[in-house]
Amino acid sequence: MAQVRYRSAVSPLRRGTTLNRRGAPSVRRPVTCVDNLVETLRPSDPVHCLRPAVLSATAARFVSAFPGDVLYAVKCNPEPAVLRALYEGGVRHFDAASPGEVRLVRQMFPNAEIHYMHPVKSPDAIRQAYFDFGVRDFSLDSAEELEKLVEQTDSADDLGLFIRLGLPKGSAVYDLSGKFGAAPDEAARLLRSARAVGRKVGICFHVGSQCLDPAAYERALELAGTVIARAGVEIDVMDVGGGFPVSYPGVTPPPLDDFMEAVARGFARLGLPKRTRLWCEPGRALVAPGVSLLVQVIRRRGNELFINDGVYGSLSDAGVPAFRFPARMIRPDAVASDAAEEAFAFYGPTCDSADYMAGPFMLPADIRTGDWIELGQLGAYGSCLRTAFNGFDNARLVDVTDRPLLETPGYLDLADEHADLSDRSGQAAISVGYITEQAA
Ligand SMILES: *Cc1c(COP(=O)(O)O)cnc(C)c1O
Repeated sequence: MAQVRYRSAVSPLRRGTTLNRRGAPSVRRPVTCVDNLVETLRPSDPVHCLRPAVLSATAARFVSAFPGDVLYAVKCNPEPAVLRALYEGGVRHFDAASPGEVRLVRQMFPNAEIHYMHPVKSPDAIRQAYFDFGVRDFSLDSAEELEKLVEQTDSADDLGLFIRLGLPKGSAVYDLSGKFGAAPDEAARLLRSARAVGRKVGICFHVGSQCLDPAAYERALELAGTVIARAGVEIDVMDVGGGFPVSYPGVTPPPLDDFMEAVARGFARLGLPKRTRLWCEPGRALVAPGVSLLVQVIRRRGNELFINDGVYGSLSDAGVPAFRFPARMIRPDAVASDAAEEAFAFYGPTCDSADYMAGPFMLPADIRTGDWIELGQLGAYGSCLRTAFNGFDNARLVDVTDRPLLETPGYLDLADEHADLSDRSGQAAISVGYITEQAA
């Protein structure tokens, strides 16, 4: 995919990739699992360990469980290898929210459906999306945006217009109620105006990210029903947005099917015409388990570990949002540690004291400088949030066949044909990548 214009935050370590390690012999070795990667490469930069089989299996499970169309929210992880794995798993719709995302998806999947679900767009972004990349669906939450959409598409008669409904602050870990969304009265007015110019109209909302309460979708659907009744028009699509949760240490969400049933129930209760489609826009739920992050301990100070990645890198959510991630220590050439687990906090590599991650992250009590740590559930909002702050801009990407560190109820059936995964012994079912090491 060399022709894809996308500046990845992580550089792939793939077949034929040269890694300059001073004094290392030039050899080609298969990399199959994370332990094997540490053994072979002793990486001193953070490494993103991509599990294509997990991503495809998760996508396949979600697509078959959701009673409608599944749009992947690209912002969550726009890595081309991730998009390809999701496509393999059956995702054919993409929720893009910038010209860059629209272009990336169109270049990779000429026939995919792209929906521009950002309610505030620049005039140029609208023109590009409509005229250059064939996007027809756009979200909006104001009359000004509706006017802009009509004007910038030269009064197109084939628009899909989605009114973003504001929701009261809910129970999601990541509240998204502040920035976008029209209040019910305004949403009803917009729906009427949109119906007059759009070929297709819909309502969309977002219950907040990592939403642990299935009933939040039912409540939002009920509010959407009020808006439709008030507007007195028919809609073509009801889009319940993203927010579907995954497991983190100490947090096990209700099973996926509880969310699917809540959506189906809330939708059915509205009694909309049979032809009304149901959409969703999951981000986190599709990709979180599909990537882990491998970091190295640079210094230990009591139960604080200084590691080589942090809140300005791929661990943004471990900072102020205080997400905890499943962790395991990797120490090559040694018998496995039998030390009991203890709680550790992390400092990232930059000079900023805000580069701190409280965790707690559970790791063996004898962990020391030079050990590696694998952190799971970092496929969502991980690599895409990296900055180059303080010069720590190196991170690598490699494919592995390991199972995820943590599984979410109802998501991944490991007997599934897509989940052809290895165990951690390194006996991989398939070898997915090679790394060429060369003497510097
Ligand atoms: C971020 C976002 C999503 C994805 O949210 P998740 O909580 O990751 O599922 C979906 N839709 C819109 C409009 C978003 O902004």
